[in-house]
Amino acid sequence: MSDLTDLQIDELKLHLAQRLRELKAEIRDALVQSDQQHHKDLAGSVADTGDEAVADMLVDLDIALADRHVVELRDVEAALGRIRDGSFGVCIDCGNAIGHERLSAYPVAKRCIRCQQRREIVYSRGTTPTL
Ligand SMILES: [Zn+2]
Repeated sequence: MSDLTDLQIDELKLHLAQRLRELKAEIRDALVQSDQQHHKDLAGSVADTGDEAVADMLVDLDIALADRHVVELRDVEAALGRIRDGSFGVCIDCGNAIGHERLSAYPVAKRCIRCQQRREIVYSRGTTPTL
């Protein structure tokens, strides 16, 4: 269980939904700037799509220009999905609540600070931990 109040979740959800709209607009702009017709068609599809699965639609396409936005879009969509299924605000590694302070700064966080720091240490060493 997360330790967020309904109000806090609502605020974070609004924030995520706003970011989702910004990202879609940025991806659409990037696609529109491309002079290839199928990209323009795709841009139209993005504009018409609801909140679901835009990233899935884009993921098969090799559009380097929009890649970074697509990665973030997927994170934001995943976070909104966790709000819907009730797992938002819970660390996927240890199951403890992720603090509201951390989620305010970083609403797509999937891990609590302790697990995230442990993960970053492991990754920065570039080795697989032995148990
Ligand atoms: Zn954790």
